[in-house]
Amino acid sequence: MKLTKEQGVELLKKLTAEKPSQTCPLCGCQAFSVNDTVFNLTENTGKTLTIGKGVSFIPVISASCQKCGYMIFINGLISGIITDEDLENYKDPD
Ligand SMILES: [Zn+2]
Repeated sequence: MKLTKEQGVELLKKLTAEKPSQTCPLCGCQAFSVNDTVFNLTENTGKTLTIGKGVSFIPVISASCQKCGYMIFINGLISGIITDEDLENYKDPD
């Protein structure tokens, strides 16, 4: 799943709204970029990888420091960047 450009901009606004001088905890840089790919943080169901019904997942969005590469992950649903409707309407690109 990909973020739209508007969703990426909205996330950056939210990140800086709470603390306008947000800096990287490793290098102090203030330049972060949002990756437009939405990743899933999946439930650990044991030694095998289980994909499908009954497995919990959290859609996460990553942002990276442009100087050192430090990454943060934001819960897409709690942040409001991704909605339940986005997930329900998502179709795999073929
Ligand atoms: Zn950094």
